[in-house]
Amino acid sequence: MADILLTRAPKNATPLLLLTEKAFGAWAKKKPKRIGQWMATHEFAAKPGTFWLVPDAEGKVERVVAGISETPSLWDIADFSTRLPAGSYALESDAHLAYQEWLALGWVLGAHKFTRYKKAAAPKAKLVLPPGADAKKIARYAASICLARDLITTPAEDMGPEQLADAAVAMAKKYGAKISQIVGDDLLKKNFPAIHRVGRASYRAPRLVDLTWGNPKHPKITLVGKGVCFDTGGLDIKPSSGMYLMKKDMGGAACVLAIAQMVMDAKLPVRLRVLIPAVENAVAGNAYRPSDVITMRNGLTVEVGNTDAEGRLILADALAEASAEKPELMIDFATLTGAARGALGTELPALFCNNDAVADQMLAAGKDMEDPLWRMPLHKPYAKMLDSAIADLNSAPGSPYAGAITAALFLQRFVGDGLAWAHIDLMAYNLAAKPGRPEGGEAQAVRAVYRLIEQRAGIR
Ligand SMILES: [Zn+2]
Repeated sequence: MADILLTRAPKNATPLLLLTEKAFGAWAKKKPKRIGQWMATHEFAAKPGTFWLVPDAEGKVERVVAGISETPSLWDIADFSTRLPAGSYALESDAHLAYQEWLALGWVLGAHKFTRYKKAAAPKAKLVLPPGADAKKIARYAASICLARDLITTPAEDMGPEQLADAAVAMAKKYGAKISQIVGDDLLKKNFPAIHRVGRASYRAPRLVDLTWGNPKHPKITLVGKGVCFDTGGLDIKPSSGMYLMKKDMGGAACVLAIAQMVMDAKLPVRLRVLIPAVENAVAGNAYRPSDVITMRNGLTVEVGNTDAEGRLILADALAEASAEKPELMIDFATLTGAARGALGTELPALFCNNDAVADQMLAAGKDMEDPLWRMPLHKPYAKMLDSAIADLNSAPGSPYAGAITAALFLQRFVGDGLAWAHIDLMAYNLAAKPGRPEGGEAQAVRAVYRLIEQRAGIR
């Protein structure tokens, strides 16, 4: 980030004037006729996301005029780092500092590139931070979001259960968090049967990563992230079209790690715990089968309805473990169901929550942070769809309806009584690039939940 944001304006920085369409009219009127004519020729009207280079008498760039939306947005100038000519740009705006910081974050997010396998030139347009801007805070958000993106975009060969755990270990080391892992057959000894069952067919051992940080006297918040590093579907194998993107099936874990990094970097007064069940859902002779029954960590028996519904099984063990210490709030992140995408599309994660106050707070935080969520119901009558003839629950009902809801209802059976719990069913991927959001892995619901944790920690 250091190379794309400047904390001090170089002498030759070009002013970048931000105007709404309305304000632009008044500004343009005061300009000499030739400038007005030139803008009209280019049909420039300061529509959000557009910009125009204002020439000086010598034909050099005097300033850039950029159109922004009436309601200020993180994404207003988020792709300018790649579209403006090389140089450094200083915002010219009477908007409050927080908004200008927000724009700077968008600028960095738009400049982010995944460079593990292919070099990419860094964008040449740099932004000068406004005086007094909190550069650390912008860097905290940007680094965490980009970490999640990179983890998700990395193909499964280079991001297996062990490598995903390594990312958590590196983070724990940096911030002085405690971390432990239960790996392979030890999962059976320590009673995490579902994580073992789902992950046992891969030559890469399944594991549960357990990170804790902070003062135990502070509010206990536990985040659980689905870490399926590749999902073939198991014996109920996916078709090619459904399998291609399944490196992103650890997107929940990546988002949870991004939030953990933000919380620890900001030293929020919370006691944070992160649980990541990390597995590969592979096909092999010892793969778990549809119709098998698993006795789960909390004692419930589950008939495997479909081996492609593996995420809820590993999350169930983790939620049962998380519940044991009765945290104030548990939130799980998971790329869980196609049904959630069918209902809400890829850009709007589904929120399920057993506590209305928490849900309202999270939705409001999502709005504030331009990281929207949409609440869906834990509709009790549908719990019947989870009935099994031979076990307490069926993990994947055959019905084509309400798949996101039945998955959430399944998870709820592993949440301890009386505990506040939210479940976020998300895509974690940008199928196409938008300003500030390159194609590839994406940190969804991360800003929203971070904001919620800030509020829980008493930060306004
Ligand atoms: Zn699956």
